[in-house]
Parts: sequence; structure tokens; C-alpha cells
Amino acid sequence: MKFYSTADKTNVVSLRDAVLGGMPADNGLYMPESIPQLPTSFFNSLYTLDYQTLSFEVAKIIIGEDIPHQILWDMINHAINFDTPLVDIEDHIKTLELFHGPTLAFKDVGARFMSRLMAYLVKDSDRELTILVATSGDTGSAVANGFFQVPGINVIVLYPANKISAIQEKQIATLGENIIALKVNGTFDDCQHLVKTAFVDPGIKKSRMLTSANSINISRLIPQTFYYFNALRQIANFQSKQIAISVPSGNFGNLTAGLIAKRMGLPVQRFIAATNINHIVPDYLDSGLYRPKPSIPTISNAMDVGSPSNFSRILDLYDSSWKRIKSDIHGIYLSDDETRQAISAVKKNTGYILDPHGAVGYLGIKEYLLKHPKIDAGIFLETAHPAKFKNIIEPVIQDRIEIPARLADFLNRKIQTLNLSKNFPEFKAFLLQHSV
Ligand SMILES: *Cc1c(COP(=O)(O)O)cnc(C)c1O
Repeated sequence: MKFYSTADKTNVVSLRDAVLGGMPADNGLYMPESIPQLPTSFFNSLYTLDYQTLSFEVAKIIIGEDIPHQILWDMINHAINFDTPLVDIEDHIKTLELFHGPTLAFKDVGARFMSRLMAYLVKDSDRELTILVATSGDTGSAVANGFFQVPGINVIVLYPANKISAIQEKQIATLGENIIALKVNGTFDDCQHLVKTAFVDPGIKKSRMLTSANSINISRLIPQTFYYFNALRQIANFQSKQIAISVPSGNFGNLTAGLIAKRMGLPVQRFIAATNINHIVPDYLDSGLYRPKPSIPTISNAMDVGSPSNFSRILDLYDSSWKRIKSDIHGIYLSDDETRQAISAVKKNTGYILDPHGAVGYLGIKEYLLKHPKIDAGIFLETAHPAKFKNIIEPVIQDRIEIPARLADFLNRKIQTLNLSKNFPEFKAFLLQHSV
């Protein structure tokens, strides 16, 4: 498969260049040249496939012959090593739990697959690859854990001092080996600025093979299509049902992966783009006008995005037709108060504990079903385990949340981090000193 840039469709590159390059120089995003439809036999036999086998079938049609099948199969078995169960919440509403990976967030899926794919793509290179990531929390922990001990790759994670949660810092800064954690005396924007400046610095580029690992990388979206098929596999007679899926969204990578899955034939009537008050995309769906804004902080903070990076991919999928986009995606946005009320009500009525992001997704599907009673099954994605947001949830449900063992395990480890100022020359000196 070849990949083109959304800014210029004649700018076409190989899988290797799309994945290792991350973003084209023309500021577009990479998209697969074609999105083939899965055969009817795939859907007819979906119930008989396990999660890894169906992922392999989906991966083959996007990745094509670029990776030997045995290697792709090994990659999938390594990356897709935790389940995504579909759990009943109430009549007609189910949640797809995506948080059973090592850092308890759906970003584990993309990060684990990307790490193995990159390791394969650089294996014949004489230099090690360095991944630079600026993080406000979740991306850094998923990437650090996804790349831990992956041969030929080093990861440098920059995070703002005192601005990420204690759990997140433990998930990023206790691994060691090929994962270097840098605690920056500044904000997330300062971290992002250091990373962006490093990418265009000629001296650094000469000494290191650098790439990024954020959600603009197409290799994160490919494995995120797999769990949409895994969701339908868990619904009896899905082919004769009307199904809607609500996706709590920030940068819209997760929803874009769903739209790509639909293009491959995923039988879903409608997607719901559910956001917090950073409602740039719901506004676009409503008015046809796309107006990025500075982000506003909320309790679903992994979705505090004012300029969603995957929006250009959505436009590209539908040739920028607002009408066609609207017919596949319905937009809804919720306030923090509504989110808290949903967490409380669902706990009271069903016993289930939502995290703040999942709660936005839940309200999205709930509202949609009220207006669209023909839908048989409404699914919302649970993108993180509620224990990651203990401090927000416990006062709302007035109960304790049990911390899963794999999260508790992080809390007992020792932090190994280096302090860094927000001045670029210091960061540059660090990168040159430790060049590989
Ligand atoms: C990143 C993240 C999101 C948003 O996903 P996008 O693909 O950026 O839309 C939602 N929930 C959680 C918990 C996240 O970490």
C-alpha cells in the first residue's frame, strides 16, 4: 500500500516513509491510497474468528504485501494481547472497553502496534531510531510502555513538571532502559515547542534519526480499526441490526479509525462524535463551518483539543462534502456537570463506573437513541479505566474505586527522570551528547 498526503494527493510515499516520517513536509497527513472493502465471507465468518485473526485479516488489506505475512501476524499477536470486551450497560446500550492494556487507556492499542511496526521498518538501518514525544499525560505513558525494550528504538518523553498526575508520571518515568523521561520546567506547550524545534534543527537531524509518535502517525490508526470489528463480533446477528457507535473524541484519531473501518465494510449506521465543551467538530457538523479555537480545560482532559489534528483526514475521506460527513457522523457535546451527572446516574442505576471520557461517550449514545429509536444497538467506547481519574470520580460516586493490580504495580516503582529547563539550547545539548 502507498500513502498520500491530504495536502497534495500527488505526494505519494511508501509505508516505511509514512510511518517513519510521521507527517509529510507539506503539513498534510498521510492516508492510504485506497481503502479496500473486506469480502462478504469475512463478515459471514466473523463469529468464528478470534480477535487476533480478524485483526490480521483487516491489517492485510491496508498493509498489503509490504510486510511478510508471518511477521505481520507476529506483530499483531504482540500488539493485540488484551481483549476489548463489549459490556451491557442498559437496554440497547453497551460499552466497548478499550482500557485493558498496560497503561489502562485505549492509546495502548496504537502505541503497541506502532512500536513493532517501526522496529521492523528500521531493523536494517545502521542507526537507532529516536522517538520524541511531548505529552500532557496519556500519550506519553502509552508510548513509553509500548516501546519499552523494543530493539533499535529509543524514546525520549518530555512532560511538564507538576502538570501531569502522579500515576501518569510513574507510568512514564519508572521504566528506564530505552525510555528516557525528561521533566521540563514549563508547560505542555513548552514541551511541544522543544520537540517541534528539535525536528527542524539541522545539527540534531544529522546526529539522530528522529520521528514522532503522536496520533497523526497513520500506524496508530491502522490497529484502531481492529477493535470496531471485534465489537460487532460480540453482537448476535449484527448483520441484520442497526448499530450506532459513539466515540468520545479529542484529536479524532479514534473516530477516523472507525470511519476507515466503515469504508472497509463495517456495518454501522452512524458514528456519534461526542466531545466536551471543546466542540469544534460538533459545531462543524451543525453549521458546516470549521473554526479551531484555543482549548478549554475540562474533567475529560485527554479530549481538551481546540484544533483536532485528524480533522483533515475526515475531510479527505469524504472529499470535503459536509453533507456526506453529516450523514455518517452526528455531533454532540457535553459540559462537565452533565458528565458528572452521567457518572453518578450510571453508577446508581447499574453499578457500572464510567471514566469522564467514557461518560461523554455514554451521553452521546443515550441522546442519539432517544431521537433514533430504530437503532437496535448503541455502543460507546470506554477509552480509559476510571481508576486513572480517581480524584474526579470518587467524590461523584461517593465510593472508593479499586486500583487494578497493573496500575498499583506502577505506583511502587522508582521514578528516574532528568530535569530540563524549557530553553532549547539545553535540550539540544542533551540530544547531541546522547546521540546514537
Ligand atoms: C486520547 C484520548 C481520547 C481522545 O482520542 P482521540 O483519538 O484523540 O479523539 C479519549 N479518551 C482518552 C482517555 C484518551 O486518552
